[in-house]
Amino acid sequence: MKVIDMHCDTMKEILDARMIGKNTNLKKNNLSVDIEKMNQGNYMLQVFAAFTNMKEEDSTVNCLKTIDIFHNEIEANKEHIGIVLSYNDILKNIEQNRMSALLSIEEGACCKGDLGLLRNFYKLGVRMMTLTWNYENELGFPNEIIESKLVLDRGLKKAGFEFIEEMENLGIIIDVSHLSDAGFYDILNNTKKPFVASHSNARSICNHRRNMTDDMIKKLADRGGVMGLNFYSCFLNNNYTSNDMSKLDDMIVHLKHIRNIGGIEVIGLGSDFDGINCRVEIENASKMQILGEKMKKEGFTENEIEHIFYKNVLNLFKEIL
Ligand SMILES: [Zn+2]
Repeated sequence: MKVIDMHCDTMKEILDARMIGKNTNLKKNNLSVDIEKMNQGNYMLQVFAAFTNMKEEDSTVNCLKTIDIFHNEIEANKEHIGIVLSYNDILKNIEQNRMSALLSIEEGACCKGDLGLLRNFYKLGVRMMTLTWNYENELGFPNEIIESKLVLDRGLKKAGFEFIEEMENLGIIIDVSHLSDAGFYDILNNTKKPFVASHSNARSICNHRRNMTDDMIKKLADRGGVMGLNFYSCFLNNNYTSNDMSKLDDMIVHLKHIRNIGGIEVIGLGSDFDGINCRVEIENASKMQILGEKMKKEGFTENEIEHIFYKNVLNLFKEIL
C-alpha cells in the first residue's frame, strides 16, 4: 500500500544535528525518516515541515535555514524523490518512479504577520502551513493552559484572517493542527476550500488539547478536509506519557472512532516522526505497512485502508495545489 504522510520534523532534526557539527543527511540517517526507510515503507509522498520554536530562535531565519536544507537534500536524492509544487508534479514523480516531497511550515510566526513574507515562502516552495505552533503569535492562538485553566476560545487575530484568505489564493494548504478550537471555527467560517489538521487525533478518545473534538471532525469532513493520524503516545491514550510506547491498538481505536464520526474520507496519516520523543510500535518510516496489516485484521477493507494511507490526501492535493 502506498503511503502519504502529512507531517514529519526530519528537516529540523537534520538542521539541529548540523548545528552541532554532525553530518546528518536525508539519504540514510539514525532518525525515523530517510530515503531508504521511505523506500522500504512504500512511500508515495512525505510532507516535510520546517518547524521552528519562536521562543528559542528567530523563527524566520530558522525556517529559511530549514528550507535550504530541504531543497539541498531533495536535490541530492533526486533519483529517488522530487519536490512537489503542483498536483501534476506528484503524477510526474510517480511516472518517473520517484517519491514526492512537499514542503510545509510549522509555525506561522516565521511570516512575522507580513503577507509579503508568506508570498516569498510560497515562492520557496511552501505548500502547507500551520497558523501557530504551541504559542500565541501574530496570527492567532493555540489552545493554552493559563493558570491551570484550559483556554480554547481565543481564535485568529486580524492578520490571521488576512493570511487564510491569501493562503487560499496562493494555494497554500491551511493546517489547523496546534491551532485553538476557536481558530478552527474562524477558519471554517471564513474559507471555502478544504483544509487539514496534518497531525491531530480524536479528543473524545484521548482528551488532549492537540486533538480534535467530534464536532470539529464532522465539520472538517463536511468541508472535504483530512486529519492525519498522529503517532505520539500522549495524543493516543490518556494514560500514556512520553515514556510509553505508542501502540497500534490505540491507533485503531482512534481510526474507528474518526471513521464513525466523520467517515472514511476525513482520515489520513500524520506520523509526526522526528517530532515526537516516544518509542513507536511502528518503529520508523520503513515499518509503515504494519499499520495497514493491523487495520486489515481489525476489519478495515482494502478500499478503506487505501483511502487512509494516501487517497484522501491525494484528492485534497489535487483540489488545492
Ligand atoms: Zn506539531
